Amino acid sequence: MTLERPERAMVVFAHPDDEIGCAGTVALWTGQGTEVCLVLCTNGDKGTEDMELPPQKLAEIRAEEQRNAATSLGVKDLVMLGYPDGELEDTREFRGKLVREIRRFRPQVIFTHAPVAVTRHNHRDHRMTGLVTMDAVYPYARDPWHFVELTRDGLAPHKVGAVYQWGSDTPTVFSDIGESIDRKVEAMLCHRSQFLRPNRDPNRSPGDFMKEGAKRQGERAGLQYAESFYKLEFRT
Ligand SMILES: [Zn+2]
Repeated sequence: MTLERPERAMVVFAHPDDEIGCAGTVALWTGQGTEVCLVLCTNGDKGTEDMELPPQKLAEIRAEEQRNAATSLGVKDLVMLGYPDGELEDTREFRGKLVREIRRFRPQVIFTHAPVAVTRHNHRDHRMTGLVTMDAVYPYARDPWHFVELTRDGLAPHKVGAVYQWGSDTPTVFSDIGESIDRKVEAMLCHRSQFLRPNRDPNRSPGDFMKEGAKRQGERAGLQYAESFYKLEFRT
């Protein structure tokens, strides 16, 4: 079970390290020639319990970690929107920034957070990112009179073919990441500030934890390791 590989794919995610939700698929695709753009919405400046670490310093650390993770996934195009952690809102400004990136990069496929999950609580920034990304795809990136200032600036409307949402309660497609599970772990390990936090269980390595998760997804589809997504298709 493999997803159809596009020429260009975009990942829109809330915090540095959330791209790991689709990192196995991204690593697989970049290895086969797909161009991928990562759009990081916040700077992750509140992702610590350490009150001695100033948010601005943490943001710098996490930006560097994100650049390393992008490189390890074979991604050359990384956009950081720089919103403060925890403060994403459904605004015209945020929507416009995503429309700009979609019209610039022109992906056939976008990965993002599922905006709704009923069986568990999902971080507000994840919900906002998923919601605003969906709205940016349709109708705002697609129709020329929306964000007409971008249209007049030469950013022509663009139709995205499909959105894959990770974190869904009801995934509909499973991506076989047996070949790229180690690359997914490697990308996660770039986000050192997040897995060296003191509340982590010292007896389980972050890599083991990640592989267990991918294995659980795989069991649902008869695969050794998988990523699962809810797929929405759009007429192109
Ligand atoms: Zn997050």
